[in-house]
Amino acid sequence: MRERERELVNYEKILLKNMETPGYTGDLAAYERAGGYRAIRKVLKEYKPEQVIEIVKKSGLRGRGGAGFPTGTKWGFIPKDPTLTKYLCVNADESEPGTFKDRQLIDRDPHQMLEGTLIAAYAIGAKVVYIYIRGEFALGAKILERAIAEARAKGYIGKDVFGSGIGIEIWVHRGAGAYICGEETALLESIEGKRGLPRAKPPFPAINGLYQKPTVVNNVETVSNLPHIINRGPEWYAAIGTPKSPGMRIFSVGGHVKRPGNYEVPLGISLRELIDEHAGGVRDGHRIKAIIPGGASAAFFTPEHLDVKLDFESIAQAGSMLGSGGVTVMDETTCMVWAAYNLLGFFHHESCGKCTPCREGSAWLYHILERIEHGEGRPEDLAQLERLCGNIAGKTVCAFGDAEVAPILSTLKHFRDEYEAHIREHRCPIGDGVAALAAR
Ligand code: SF4
Repeated sequence: MRERERELVNYEKILLKNMETPGYTGDLAAYERAGGYRAIRKVLKEYKPEQVIEIVKKSGLRGRGGAGFPTGTKWGFIPKDPTLTKYLCVNADESEPGTFKDRQLIDRDPHQMLEGTLIAAYAIGAKVVYIYIRGEFALGAKILERAIAEARAKGYIGKDVFGSGIGIEIWVHRGAGAYICGEETALLESIEGKRGLPRAKPPFPAINGLYQKPTVVNNVETVSNLPHIINRGPEWYAAIGTPKSPGMRIFSVGGHVKRPGNYEVPLGISLRELIDEHAGGVRDGHRIKAIIPGGASAAFFTPEHLDVKLDFESIAQAGSMLGSGGVTVMDETTCMVWAAYNLLGFFHHESCGKCTPCREGSAWLYHILERIEHGEGRPEDLAQLERLCGNIAGKTVCAFGDAEVAPILSTLKHFRDEYEAHIREHRCPIGDGVAALAAR
């Protein structure tokens, strides 16, 4: 390996460090041997809640679930009144296709996440925390329950956290497997025992959240960063990555790469570096055709975008989003109409049905793509797709509407000739699409 390449892949890991240490078991004793639960002790001894909020603001940490909202600022919206009940919910739903980082953080180093959760709860004054984990993560839920029991037995969670006199309870709440429950207000509805439908905003959860009380919803990766920010200082954290997108980020790289997996890198490295140096490049003899840079809700990129930097601003400027950090690479054997059709199958299935443009529109989009992919498309279908997308984006209760049109609009923009060829030739010209996939 060339010297430059070695430099590129040898970043100091933060969140994946423990679990990549040989022999690390992830139980409480192992976590403490690795320096765990030092940060929460320090917080309880040395800082007032508002000081913790200031530290996190100074670090520049932004939410790792999708929207990238500054974490300290979000906490700052919670009313300071000590008589008010407040809640913290940790979003462990991770249902965005192509994203599998939170699962690894939960399964392999649950106490790192729990320590971060305690720090966040202390900062906002929450005495009760719910970790909302997707129903399919049965193993993760079991691991978390076990870790919480270990921490509770030692007095780290419960009525008197580390003998501080402060009570913080943490409960695991399992979802039933609906994608939309990863949306923060649908998640709150689900915890309340209702059907997981997003709420119209405002009011925002910071004012009117779980059981109508002030609530913060933070992602698993977001809270996992907190012990490190406390231990090493906000200046250290802010110096990693770019000025507006500081810190490390775990990218889940999948698709046609040689080494799919989770890679923790500083925000601001290029897409090319992530794919070539970390994930080993595209499988032998093939070329990159398209990339989804931030989970299924993000617009497609092409090889022209390989030098775009992986930070919130650069990706948005290039026309997509960093989103959940799920990077899916597709080579030239992929039919882009099929790719959009496949994603719309998912969105059509997962639309919660609350608002008409999304509920009805997702079905229309899916069925038009289905007929184009199967050689039954009509010349007017492309204009119809664009018209439908225009009637959905920005006109729905939650961001799902914008997400479901992204794969269509971006493939129409970058691969319109493929759509036209399907309609003109009455077949899929790229390896017969669905049939080819079934044979792979
Ligand atoms: Fe439900 Fe879709 Fe409307 Fe969101 S946009 S509330 S998922 S129907």
